[in-house]
Amino acid sequence: MSVRADFDRLMVPTYAPAPFVLVRAEGSRVWDSEGRERIDYTGGIAVNVLGHCHPVLVETLRMQAGEIWHVSNAYTNEPALRLARRLTDATFAERVFFCNSGAEANEAAFKLARRVAFDRDGEGRYEIVAAHGSFHGRSLFTVSVGGQPKYSEGFGPAIDGIRHVPFNDLDALRAAVSGSTCAVVLEPVQGEGGVIPADLEYLQGARDICNEHGALLIFDEVQTGVGRVGELYAYQHYGVTPDILTSAKGLGGGFPIGAMLTRADIGVHFPPGTHGTTNGGNPLACSVADAVLSVVDSDEVRRGVIRRRAAFVDQLDALAIKHGVFGPARGLGLLIGCPLHDNWKGLAKVIVTAAAEEGVLLLQAGPDVLRFAPSLVIDPQDIDEGLRRLDRALSKISEARA
Ligand code: PLP
Repeated sequence: MSVRADFDRLMVPTYAPAPFVLVRAEGSRVWDSEGRERIDYTGGIAVNVLGHCHPVLVETLRMQAGEIWHVSNAYTNEPALRLARRLTDATFAERVFFCNSGAEANEAAFKLARRVAFDRDGEGRYEIVAAHGSFHGRSLFTVSVGGQPKYSEGFGPAIDGIRHVPFNDLDALRAAVSGSTCAVVLEPVQGEGGVIPADLEYLQGARDICNEHGALLIFDEVQTGVGRVGELYAYQHYGVTPDILTSAKGLGGGFPIGAMLTRADIGVHFPPGTHGTTNGGNPLACSVADAVLSVVDSDEVRRGVIRRRAAFVDQLDALAIKHGVFGPARGLGLLIGCPLHDNWKGLAKVIVTAAAEEGVLLLQAGPDVLRFAPSLVIDPQDIDEGLRRLDRALSKISEARA
């Protein structure tokens, strides 16, 4: 049997996982190797949109496993084409590129934006404008574009030609975009940066600024996509359409897959040989993602997200008043953030640990914000019970600090 201590002996210490090892899961409940049950509000960091072991996904994976797993991109395959059709039918996009993660989807988006500019305007237009506090992945290009310097520090010269501006500040964006800009990239809700929704006027303004300067607008929907905010993608909630959209996390519901979505006139700038990845468009991943979308892209799930958000927010706001640890809940749909009050700043990790002790798993978004990204179909009883556990955890740590 493997135990938590094996992690420290065997793994590169990029992560500091919880002291328990999860071995089994169903819906929004998970069990550790000692049989202890916990309620999961992390959704594998906004990944398990249908909870754990959803029967439709289990059945799809089993079926596909007996058909064909991997063929490489020297051949196409039916699940990839099915998924591409579903994504293009459901969004603005006409072309899709499949990969394995959010970072890879963004890497593809940034490279494509530069290539489009190069093909259309020559070498002078390569700048990418991104927001402070943004997060776009951990490859060198994506940490360079991301607006959190801690992720690129110590990795040598960052990629050149990136400008960062304050989020939700249209004047700053206008001042940064020029004829040298190939793309502006924004998260409709900054996830890792603290669960901060973009203002509608900001996204509308960003669209106009990009149009004026001939730059592409990229929405990183790796965290906000696949039903998380109530619509299939957050751009549909805002009514502001990007030129390129990236998706991952929830797209596979727990099976690794990423996708870059765009229009035909932009996609054409990636002809054979310009970009690729061996496992991208793998039949296993694509069949699961297609099944995820077949469930998530429905009015039932959309309405359910709105109802469940209301249940979370009402109860979280009551806990906010009762304990004085955090302020009112913010975010969109089932991407919810609770900003810690000044005297609790920096203690998100302590609260997450205490909550896990009481039997509920939470996320943080930086040191100062608690984050909730549960299954979109979480059982309402698990919302009530998990928040009762959080209530107990908050009482305990408040007493301990008093
Ligand atoms: N973009 C956003 C908005 C994210 O939240 C994340 C992950 O948290 C990524 C990109 C990177 O995705 P991945 O970890 O799958 O590479």
